[in-house]
Amino acid sequence: MISSHKRSSLDRDTTFYAPKVACFACYDSGIVSNGDGLLNDYLTDYDAIVIDGVLHRHGGSDLAIICHCTAAYESQDFESQTTRSGFRDSSGVKTTDINGRQQSIGVDPDKDIIREIHRKRRDLWQRSAQDLNSLRQQVRAGMNPQLPDYIATVKQQLQGLNELLPAFASNE
Ligand SMILES: [Zn+2]
Repeated sequence: MISSHKRSSLDRDTTFYAPKVACFACYDSGIVSNGDGLLNDYLTDYDAIVIDGVLHRHGGSDLAIICHCTAAYESQDFESQTTRSGFRDSSGVKTTDINGRQQSIGVDPDKDIIREIHRKRRDLWQRSAQDLNSLRQQVRAGMNPQLPDYIATVKQQLQGLNELLPAFASNE
């Protein structure tokens, strides 16, 4: 192995890539993620509490949603050693003993919902990659491209960060 702190040219590539996963619903973890809030399109109150008619996201407050892809199942290496215990087996989502009572370790969602989340996220990542690569190309060419709405919004929000977090800013 070469002992050098220099990255390979491929690693220094400025291309934006979508995550290289087989399943965009769970990002190959077996548990459906909701970082982008997409799950709430299907399960409105998932990881959320409604206060005065307004939905407040509260990650981790509900049971995990177990994916339908292979990442949710046990996997073994070539010597039949279990490398991942999995959240499902042939009978469905696994259960665990909680004070003498068997409780499901997660929720078994509708397959169609998971399939749709996978497709939507995959397409959104593809679009983001196209947008960002086109922007980076324009910047490299010395242009000053207009930012897409979703980036411009976050940039604007970050500019107001000092007012949002006054205590944090005064510690600087
Ligand atoms: Zn999955």
